[in-house]
Amino acid sequence: MENPIIGIVLPCYNEELVLEETTTRIQEIISNLIVKNLISNKSFAVFVDDGSKDKTWEIIEKNSSKHTNIKGLKLAGNVGHQNALLAGLLTYKEETDALISIDADLQDDISVIEEMILKFISGIDVVYAVRKERKTDSFFKRNSALFFYKLMKKMKVNIIHNHADYRLCSKRVLDSLSEFNEVNLFLRGIIPSIGYNKDYVYYNRLERFAGESKYPLKKMLSFAWNGITSFSNYPLKIVTITGFAIFIICILLTGYALLSLYSENIVPGWLSTVLPMYFLGGVQLFCFGILGEYIGKIYLEVKKRPRYFIDKKTK
Ligand code: UDP
Ligand code: MG
Repeated sequence: MENPIIGIVLPCYNEELVLEETTTRIQEIISNLIVKNLISNKSFAVFVDDGSKDKTWEIIEKNSSKHTNIKGLKLAGNVGHQNALLAGLLTYKEETDALISIDADLQDDISVIEEMILKFISGIDVVYAVRKERKTDSFFKRNSALFFYKLMKKMKVNIIHNHADYRLCSKRVLDSLSEFNEVNLFLRGIIPSIGYNKDYVYYNRLERFAGESKYPLKKMLSFAWNGITSFSNYPLKIVTITGFAIFIICILLTGYALLSLYSENIVPGWLSTVLPMYFLGGVQLFCFGILGEYIGKIYLEVKKRPRYFIDKKTK
């Protein structure tokens, strides 16, 4: 087999502070692998500008004209990490044998790229990069992540533990990915559901060397919620179970009320009237909320709106 053409996709949103350094390191690793005769010299890295408001695109354009193996893809507006990644993967899949996705801040250790490619050459279709430990994370991020994976497991969502969006996908996996038309994209759930043979590489995640996280708490929570509701009907089941449990409690309470008719000290308390009202009101609103979330998703999905628009490509 000829040396494979490998592409590396890096979504960038307001990343002017990290781009120069990232480009240098990525460029270095690609030339290194080409020199080692492991990958084709047509291999490249593509920086996807997700509608940044800073100098991100200017830097990408400049680097792309300077280095033959660096390309740029500019999206028409900000569509979020997952969609930006998808845009990169689907736009460049025809030019490669496999694509590797990685964040632009290089928090994920790029030295395992070689190992990923070796696995790909040996016939693996999906190589997941998995974090060994979470030493560099803040206490909060570490524990919220732990909770996230536990919750996903409870909700029967099939995701890889401690794996984010750092992975290699072969051409045929990407072809399969292109058949998923969902607007609420959760790649960590979609890729494992595609199948084919998979393997893992392990790495330590580093701190961001510049710039700040584009995933504040609010985005992180909505990402987790999107993951659950895109892959699981479990919350709807909870609604049913809660409803049923309340029904049983009501029957028991009715029995109790009837029995207390025969006892001497009937206190016509307001508590027994008011409390269930508040309780049921709360439960009902909660359940409506969950139903609403799913209806909201259906609403977005039936419109089948395009997930991104491409403004321009450098090459
Ligand atoms: N990102 C993006 N669009 C967005 C938000 C983030 O393309 O709307 C990119 C960002 O530039 C980075 C990656 O997604 O390359 C991950 O973001 P970040 O490093 O801020 O997340 P964290 O590592 O803190 O979870
Ligand atoms: Mg990061």
